[in-house]
Amino acid sequence: MTDSNKPSADAQEAAPLTSAVSSSLSIEAGPSRLTPPSDRQDDKIDGAGEEATSDLSNAPKVGFSIKYQGTLLSARLAEDETVADLKAILFSMTDVPPESQKLLGMVKGKQPIDETQLGSIPYAPAALKARPASTRANSTTTDTAVAADQACKITVQFTLLGTPEAGRFRDQTIPSLLAGDQGEADKDLDYLELPKAEGPKLKPHEDPKYRAKLEKTISRFSDFPIINPPRPGKKLLVLDLDYCIADTKRLLDPNSPASLAARPGLHEMLKAVYPYYDICVWSQTSWRWLEIKLVELNMLGNPDYNISFVIDRTPMFRVHSQVGTHEVKALEFIWRRWPDVYGPHNTIHIDDLSRNFAMNPRNGLKIKAYRAAPNFDTEFEALRRYLLQLAHPSVTDFTKYEHMHNAWKHFQGPSV
Ligand SMILES: [Mg+2]
Repeated sequence: MTDSNKPSADAQEAAPLTSAVSSSLSIEAGPSRLTPPSDRQDDKIDGAGEEATSDLSNAPKVGFSIKYQGTLLSARLAEDETVADLKAILFSMTDVPPESQKLLGMVKGKQPIDETQLGSIPYAPAALKARPASTRANSTTTDTAVAADQACKITVQFTLLGTPEAGRFRDQTIPSLLAGDQGEADKDLDYLELPKAEGPKLKPHEDPKYRAKLEKTISRFSDFPIINPPRPGKKLLVLDLDYCIADTKRLLDPNSPASLAARPGLHEMLKAVYPYYDICVWSQTSWRWLEIKLVELNMLGNPDYNISFVIDRTPMFRVHSQVGTHEVKALEFIWRRWPDVYGPHNTIHIDDLSRNFAMNPRNGLKIKAYRAAPNFDTEFEALRRYLLQLAHPSVTDFTKYEHMHNAWKHFQGPSV
């Protein structure tokens, strides 16, 4: 990898220590970030802190000073936000998945649970270190980080331990990662089909609690990088990655070419629909790992189509249902950014886990999971046909169509 592929040097200005983190991670992870340096949110770490002070909450702020792999990160959240919110921000900065994060020295004894509000944590006295006197004395400072720090009621110092996701996949020392998606498949949930008695009283997409989570997520993370700008007039195809467009297990096998892991018909389908659809890949992983996989699958830099943007796990948030807790991919996260281009009327989300559709049940199409690379998988051939039918001008609202339970395979309609 050449120097020019590293995260841009201008990251150093905004957050010298944290950019060192992303630099080293990127080198570990392979190809660097997808967008040109000028488009990148290099102030992401400062940004995370600043955005945490947005109008979403008027509660007093808690500052965090986080040691991670020999560098220092900072974040600022409201007292009524939770440990889960903090972990989501830490994931966006470090690539360490929330469930693997150890917040060392924050409290004495057991780690606070995710639902705990940041203002009610019994922080260890040693974690609440006073600000250096010199900082307070320097009243003429223009350092926004210092100013932000001073605006916080308290500043908590702790050490973050955990392995970044890309590193975990690379050495494959954590088999649960492989099993994860697979093991969860039996806990999948179809929110459209829940009998009334069994369903949550409020469906997640109607529940104010999850609407609020969505608002926070949009406010905090919606400035994600774009690879190719949206093309007004196009529809939007959102694709899951693991076990949808590729057999992840095979993709991870170092003895098997990545191209063999791609679902049959992948490139043919994307080439055929690209004149009508912008393409997004949304995967419950980190962008670093996502990028590696897309390069290996020849989906980035493909001459026949472009990927508009990729979204990782960062903006996925948790909902509770009778089968437990799971994360969701809320399409409004995309729609709100380009309200004139994409919406419920022209977006289709393909995933092998229908619970991911919880916030947009009418826009999901559950596809058969692609595992163990079966020889005669024709899902994408059928999907290509369906997508070209949906692209016909006679179709004005995708939510009016039945995408689930293979109904889409029997759809009779004109094709573009
Ligand atoms: Mg999947």
